[in-house]
Amino acid sequence: MLQYELNCAKIYKKTSVMLGGVILKLLEEKIMKDGAVLPGGILKVDGFLNHRIDVGFMNEAGREFSRLFAGLGINKILTVEASGIGIACIVAQYFDGADVLFAKKNQTKNLGENTYSATVSSFTHGRDYLIRVSKDYLNENDRVLIVDDFLAVGHAAVGMIELCKQAGATVCGVGICIEKAFQGGGKTLREMGVNLHSLAIVQMGEDGSISFIDDADAAKVLLCK
Ligand code: 5GP
Repeated sequence: MLQYELNCAKIYKKTSVMLGGVILKLLEEKIMKDGAVLPGGILKVDGFLNHRIDVGFMNEAGREFSRLFAGLGINKILTVEASGIGIACIVAQYFDGADVLFAKKNQTKNLGENTYSATVSSFTHGRDYLIRVSKDYLNENDRVLIVDDFLAVGHAAVGMIELCKQAGATVCGVGICIEKAFQGGGKTLREMGVNLHSLAIVQMGEDGSISFIDDADAAKVLLCK
């Protein structure tokens, strides 16, 4: 019986690693097909992630995040508006009973003053802004998975970690769809000891070329720099 269970566990592990490889390949293909390199190190992926959302693909991404962050008791998916919201809602469905909290970038009247806040410097907009969540929706009992579409310099992720810190919540991990290896956010988070998983890690050349590196290698290369 024990041997049978061990074999099943091995097959499950192998199968889920294979599924991980499939989603990685799918994402790489999508980036190569739909992605465009814009000046300033911006990768435009409006065709499936940032304008039109490919829900079938996002479902597979959600399934992969649930595999990568399994068994951590995650009950809350935290992201930042606006592009993270759609992703977070799909990912949450793979974490039993988890709900989504998105940090707001504007001080709307209905948010009130009872908030945790952190300053984030926007890579794409080139300005600083405050992100906020209500104290009513984040607390010390929460076990949080932070998700976002991109990881560049890392300010958005560090800002969200700061919100969790203020609330006393536990950050179980950070799940990113596309990490840009050359902008240092991955290095910063890994050096902080954050449990970071990026579905794809890209390098972009000045000539508009795109290439990929695998997670473990990226971590090693970036940490050695
Ligand atoms: P960071 O705070 O890591 O510098 O930047 C992450 C945030 O900026 C993400 O929430 C994402 O929306 C946006 N971002 C950064 N780089 C890119 C990019 O190359 N393409 C797109 N579409 N968004 C990006």
